[in-house]
Amino acid sequence: MKPTLLFATNNGHKLAEAAAILHDTFEVVGLSSVACTDELPEEQDTLEGNALQKARYVYDKYGIDCFADDTGLEVEALGGEPGVYSARYAGAACVAADNMEKLLTNLRGQTNRNARFRTVIALILKGEVHLFEGIVNGQILETKAGVAGFGYDPIFQPESFTVSFAEMDSTEKNSISHRGRALQKMSQMLSNV
Ligand code: IMP
Repeated sequence: MKPTLLFATNNGHKLAEAAAILHDTFEVVGLSSVACTDELPEEQDTLEGNALQKARYVYDKYGIDCFADDTGLEVEALGGEPGVYSARYAGAACVAADNMEKLLTNLRGQTNRNARFRTVIALILKGEVHLFEGIVNGQILETKAGVAGFGYDPIFQPESFTVSFAEMDSTEKNSISHRGRALQKMSQMLSNV
């Protein structure tokens, strides 16, 4: 039987992505496996800080090795915004559609559409912290395209592709995405311990 590895998230999309990448070595489980419904704290001003804060919260509360991620969409013409504030770009109670609308409005008329997704994963293994980074470069589209995925996927087109993340199937997105790349790095490290 495969060992389990706790991903400190309740996001089903993220869990499925991690399960697909780690499936040879681990059964990836989410916070429901420890009946945790807490809103995990992410009060830091860096992705590294937030990923670590979430992982540490779960590790300290349940005493189980775990990992957490934090992602930012960094838009060149906006000086790297929304970055670490991507989840609440349009306000505390906003949903993905609000965030995308605000971003498209802020980029209206802007020809530089360069952006990147950056993910940091913090893994706490036997009390030791390991950080992994994954980046995918791309462009912010003028309008939404596709319905798959989540978050900003409909307006992000990765470099060398002619479709948005939301027009890709999950295997294709996983193979090039920010989180996919960070997860691959973690998977490689875990296969060597
Ligand atoms: P968090 O890492 O879950 O806090 O995500 C920060 C923000 O980035 C949220 O608005 C997410 O919806 C968005 N986000 C995270 N990962 C992705 C992704 O793979 N595609 C699109 N949006 C994402």
